[in-house]
Amino acid sequence: RKAAFAALRDVPPTTRDGHRVTVMVNAGLRDDVAALDITGADGIGLFRTEFQFLVSATLPQRERQQRLYKEVLDAAGDRPVIFRTVDIGGDKALPYLTHDNGEEENPAMGWRALRLALERGGLMKAQARALLEAAAGRTLNVMFPMVSEAWEFDEAKALFEAQRAWIQGRGRKLPLEVRYGAMLEVPALAEQLDLLLPKLEFLSIGTNDLTQFLFAADRANPKLAERYDWLSPSILRFIARVVGPCREAGVALAVCGEMGGRTLEAMALIGVGIDRLSITPAAVGPIKAMLRSLDRGAIETFMTGLLANPPRDMRGALADWATRTGV
Ligand code: PEP
Ligand code: MG
Repeated sequence: RKAAFAALRDVPPTTRDGHRVTVMVNAGLRDDVAALDITGADGIGLFRTEFQFLVSATLPQRERQQRLYKEVLDAAGDRPVIFRTVDIGGDKALPYLTHDNGEEENPAMGWRALRLALERGGLMKAQARALLEAAAGRTLNVMFPMVSEAWEFDEAKALFEAQRAWIQGRGRKLPLEVRYGAMLEVPALAEQLDLLLPKLEFLSIGTNDLTQFLFAADRANPKLAERYDWLSPSILRFIARVVGPCREAGVALAVCGEMGGRTLEAMALIGVGIDRLSITPAAVGPIKAMLRSLDRGAIETFMTGLLANPPRDMRGALADWATRTGV
């Protein structure tokens, strides 16, 4: 099977009825970029910049950040990379940064990601400059994590734009283009899509956090791990409702949580209209194989019926359908 997946490296992830799906990988360290060549993925749909901070004993200085981002862009070549600004805090506590944060009872819902970065403007400014200078002469894709309200996106973007103006004022080379996006992982943001979508180029659904917040179930608690299924009507209906507004606004919509790397889950996502996935590199082969055996029109019809009248065992129903249709 492994060899069969490797053979799919240069085969496009196109469904049986001819729809090209974009399959990207999630990454976080310099060496992860090798996954692009190994898997034949379309790009890096989520580069978790906090990994560099997590493996470092002290706050990585701007020059060090910039060096990493440039190496990643060099290695990716023509393939797009979406850099997510630091998602620190929560389960990714940093002793040298969050020490004054006290003990949080619910760190996942606490002072993390953009909430922390907007307050610690210096941290975000340094990262903005590192990213903008690393991408000189190229396209820079920036994505903000844990956006809960549309104005938070505005503030984060304004901070980047101020750095861009600063670099320009010094006569230094800028990216050809800066494209901004947000993660949809806090359910409240879904109620502000009309405010948010006109402002950005892409949106990426983080199903890891989204699931924990939709179900109020800690993603790190093993007792709950099996309890709430990604294939539940709540998750799938939630995602299905985001597809239409994104299409109308011309915003590229992707799923970058672990859900997209599981075969049945990815099949269901295609069925509700998702056509961009960013997944763990090991899943690219199996997901490509699934996509090439899938009829998108047929899964869309099946999902519409299933979500209108969901059975208790969604997983069983989807697995049966996959077997019946040869997926
Ligand atoms: C997510 O929440 O689904 C996600 C992709 O981000 P992370 O797992 O890094 O929180
Ligand atoms: Mg997340």
